[in-house]
Amino acid sequence: MNILFHGQGLDSDTWLAAIRTQLPNADARCWSDGLPNDWQADYALLWHPPAELFQQQTRLRALFNLGAGVDALLSLPGRPVEVPLIRLRNAGMAHWMCQYVLYGVLHFGRDFDRYRAQQQQHQWRPLQSRSRESLRLGLLGLGALGAEVACSLQRQGYALQGWSRSPKSIEGVDSYTGQQCLDSFLSRCDIVVNLLPATRDTHNLLDAERLAALPSGAVVINPGRGSTLDLDALLDALDSGHLRGAMLDVFAEEPLPPEHPLWSRPEVIITPHVAAPTLVTEALEQIAADIEALEQGRFVPRVDVEKEY
Ligand code: NAP
Repeated sequence: MNILFHGQGLDSDTWLAAIRTQLPNADARCWSDGLPNDWQADYALLWHPPAELFQQQTRLRALFNLGAGVDALLSLPGRPVEVPLIRLRNAGMAHWMCQYVLYGVLHFGRDFDRYRAQQQQHQWRPLQSRSRESLRLGLLGLGALGAEVACSLQRQGYALQGWSRSPKSIEGVDSYTGQQCLDSFLSRCDIVVNLLPATRDTHNLLDAERLAALPSGAVVINPGRGSTLDLDALLDALDSGHLRGAMLDVFAEEPLPPEHPLWSRPEVIITPHVAAPTLVTEALEQIAADIEALEQGRFVPRVDVEKEY
């Protein structure tokens, strides 16, 4: 079995070593190695590959996306549409995502943003923090990551609700579905966390109108995808005081340009797309198990290309 690896920004030596450990019988090679013309891979493990890869590799039986979000691979020209696309389903990322979201919830929920502002003024002024039960948290997206984040926040005692395409039954989480419920969902979120994939349906979902539906003083945490949040609308909502702050990990344009006004907003936390990094060992464990299942003709969950996630 031949396995091809291409991972933009990933350490190829580490990945090739891990592939060889998990799949010792495979001939694993890196796209940049200068492959002989007649070397054709059965499976490709990919993160932001070049379009030429698909011109050279014509015998692929499945594509593995080395992350949870498949938007970049789905929109790549020349991707062979008949070849199944498989993505990472948690693979250790939920742990990181839970920590990222909890950090944001604590930052705003425990008034650390206000204490930081007070520190700039050399002010010693204890504030009356809200109880956990009275802080209403909303999760947009209750998939592989969103559901785990919901469970971890639920264990912390927060009031939780989630919005997804299909109804969910998660202990302690009120489930909302469909566009018609979205404004009512948002009106109950003191902190809203976006864990939706980037699709045509989620594009600019959080626009000026949707942000206005949030209660006054609400906070937006976005570790999902940048395309879901209209940054101009966010800035307007921060300027008007309607929103208290934001914590942003992902942007429609990455890196966020140095001149972008968000960089200098004290009420905004910016991180460079690091909320839940792909973990080599956990990813390879899932991929090796999926390849074994495919080889044996067993079911492996695939990306629904129509839904785009
Ligand atoms: P997932 O398992 O595919 O879950 C997606 C969730 O979004 C599902 O609950 C789905 O509803 C819901 N959804 C999708 N489209 C919808 C729509 N139009 N209306 C309502 N709900 C909709 O994805 P995941 O593994 O949890 O990952 C979520 C996203 O996190 C990824 O797509 C990626 O963009 C992002 N991510 C970011 C980082 C980072 O480091 N910042 C790391 C990993 C992932 P159903 O359950 O009803 O289908």
